[in-house]
Amino acid sequence: MEKLNFLTAGMPNLTNPRKYENALPELVKLGLDGMELEFVRGVTMNPATQKEVKRLSSELNLILTAHAPYYINLNAQEKPKYHASITRILETARVCHICGGYSITFHAAYYMGEDKETVYKKVKIALEDIVSVLKKEGVEIWIRPELTGKNSQWGDLDELIQISKEVEMVLPCVDFSHLHARTAGAWNTYDEFCRVFEKIGNELGDFALKNFHAHIAGIEYGLKGEKKHLNLEESDLDYKNLMKAFKDFDVKGVIVCESPNIEEDAIFMQKIYKESGVFKNAS
Ligand SMILES: [Zn+2]
Repeated sequence: MEKLNFLTAGMPNLTNPRKYENALPELVKLGLDGMELEFVRGVTMNPATQKEVKRLSSELNLILTAHAPYYINLNAQEKPKYHASITRILETARVCHICGGYSITFHAAYYMGEDKETVYKKVKIALEDIVSVLKKEGVEIWIRPELTGKNSQWGDLDELIQISKEVEMVLPCVDFSHLHARTAGAWNTYDEFCRVFEKIGNELGDFALKNFHAHIAGIEYGLKGEKKHLNLEESDLDYKNLMKAFKDFDVKGVIVCESPNIEEDAIFMQKIYKESGVFKNAS
């Protein structure tokens, strides 16, 4: 990607009536770069809307990503649940691709009391299946398991990096708020943010830093991890230093804002990012 883009998670709050044909021009008015299609309760967008979203987003030069349904568990013990999970990811990828989208993300699995290695193997087999189906269909899109917010969920930074090395078309979706929450408050300094980019750059290559997919929101958490999303100013996430790290590593791709005040925090981060480092040369 040519730059770092700022997206809303779903339609901006002020979209009225709540339709894609209103949401997309609204993003342009707000000075934002696109949106993540929220299929979190099901992939229900009809074919006519998919075509219209593609037409309008390319006309307006907007970037689209998609979030797959929440009801996904690639470590489901019951076969029907496992297969339904695969189908939900495939459907998200297909529809996002038809819409002209760049990348999809999803919460891949729960540990269900099993050890990390066992679950890793199952997730890997599932993702290999998904990727092979999509390749056959000619669906070219990034498949990104998300860095999850709770200790009970598969998908910490190391697992995501490892699976991205081993499965084609797979890269991480780094949710910095989840990373902070699942460690009950760590990963919240400039040095720690830099470590994330260093690790990904070293292990997956600079390419991964130029095609980044991040989620950011304010977050409330406890010992087990994520509790709920907050607006940035209500949370302890050090978004200013996070933006600075994005800038210093020259990361490109998308940041999707998932704060409740969606577009306001997206614009806020974009502003901080633009201003970050402007004094570097002057000093
Ligand atoms: Zn998510």
